[in-house]
Amino acid sequence: MSERRTKIVATLGPATDDPLILRQMIRAGVDGVRINCSHGTREDWLRHAWMARDAAASVGRHVAIMFDLQGPKIRLHQSSKRLALTEGDRVRIVGDPKAPGATKSLIVEWPGLVDAAVLGTSELVIGDGAPRIAVLEREKGALLGTCIIPGEALPRRGAFLTHAVVDRMALSDKDRADVRVAIDAGADFIALSFVNQADDIQELRKLLGSTSIRIIAKIETLAAIESLDSIVEASDAVMVARGDLGVEAGVARVPLLQKRIIQSAGAHGKLVITATQMLESMSTAPEPTRAEASDVANAVMDGTSCVMLSGETATGRYPVEAVTQMAAIAANAQEGVIPMGVDMTAHGATVAESVMRAAVFLARDIKAAALVIPTATGGSARAAAKFRPRRPIVALCADAGVARQLALEWGVIPEPLHARPDESVEALVERCLLRAQRRLDIPDGERVVLTSGPQVAHPGATSLIAVHRIEAQHRG
Ligand code: PEP
Repeated sequence: MSERRTKIVATLGPATDDPLILRQMIRAGVDGVRINCSHGTREDWLRHAWMARDAAASVGRHVAIMFDLQGPKIRLHQSSKRLALTEGDRVRIVGDPKAPGATKSLIVEWPGLVDAAVLGTSELVIGDGAPRIAVLEREKGALLGTCIIPGEALPRRGAFLTHAVVDRMALSDKDRADVRVAIDAGADFIALSFVNQADDIQELRKLLGSTSIRIIAKIETLAAIESLDSIVEASDAVMVARGDLGVEAGVARVPLLQKRIIQSAGAHGKLVITATQMLESMSTAPEPTRAEASDVANAVMDGTSCVMLSGETATGRYPVEAVTQMAAIAANAQEGVIPMGVDMTAHGATVAESVMRAAVFLARDIKAAALVIPTATGGSARAAAKFRPRRPIVALCADAGVARQLALEWGVIPEPLHARPDESVEALVERCLLRAQRRLDIPDGERVVLTSGPQVAHPGATSLIAVHRIEAQHRG
């Protein structure tokens, strides 16, 4: 079977807090790890990041590190009454424990709640979806609603107001502090939760300043779906955050929204991660269900760049087995169906992108063994991945950070290649061919398509495409 193209992100947590387990997970196929800032302490995150980097180095793989910010999560206040709600119950909701009549209401920790609700449209969702209260009226600093899905509202449970009109940014004070930890930890990606608009991304980008950290927009609100294209354009990557998306939109809508998000990311050439409950039953069982195997396979066929494990690896009993199963399902799924990439007849947005599209066409026509792409910033390899070529993309980069970021790109195999400042383009090409041949064990006589620029280490200047025949001397 050929090299797996769809990459795997695994969430770290108590179940992975062991160098041996981490090494086994990376050997089994982890390409990136996620540190979830909704749980644990700053010390935990720094330790997890350091351990992941150490495990990757000892296994000899490039593994991306992602910090996932909690975002402006709201909760029921601790003084909110414990309420068992049944369908049709009338409920009063306030956004402040000091609000008039708070003791007779559900109290949500968010002073802006009452103004943010859209009457007749917004619903207050508690926990994972129950109880659910349709918000119908506004009255003296409170909202009045009717329970539409029964359940128990417990103090401190997470809460969510659908269709909220929010003027606050997606970055809370906690998020800002956590961004500094991510920078200290050498994160390669930061995921931003509850993004509503492209401006939220710009806010984070300003905070990241001159770092090369790439931004993942988590798509989990209906507001984000409404502004999907502009958010995708403003971000470096997106995540189909199916957990909260299911809470807001309802689970029945998640499958089609998943396809829409993957398609939009593909059209913009952006990395896309499909997340949440992919192998949920493996939190307690060594084998996934058939339905879960089909879910992972369908995401692969949709053309997702990555599939993600959450609780399965962070707190589950079988973290290594979950990665092994996910890798096997993804590798099998790619054999049968060509994943949907961007429309090959579409025009490239930039010259570099058009060059890469031509290179992908050429590799397909001549049945090349690989696309070989020397890249300083990773841009050329990402532009090739956008077209979801059948051939592996070997990306040769001098910078270890670029290699880690490319580890999550569809079909890209990052390989280190240290720049020699006075090297000629011809000498660099020879070294690239040798490295690609060794990495993929390409037999003599096979052809590869190699892209380059007129000068070594000039980002954005890729303009040449060449066909090379692998010869014995490339073996060194
Ligand atoms: C999700 O909601 O699906 C998600 C990935 O985010 P979190 O795990 O932070 O809830």
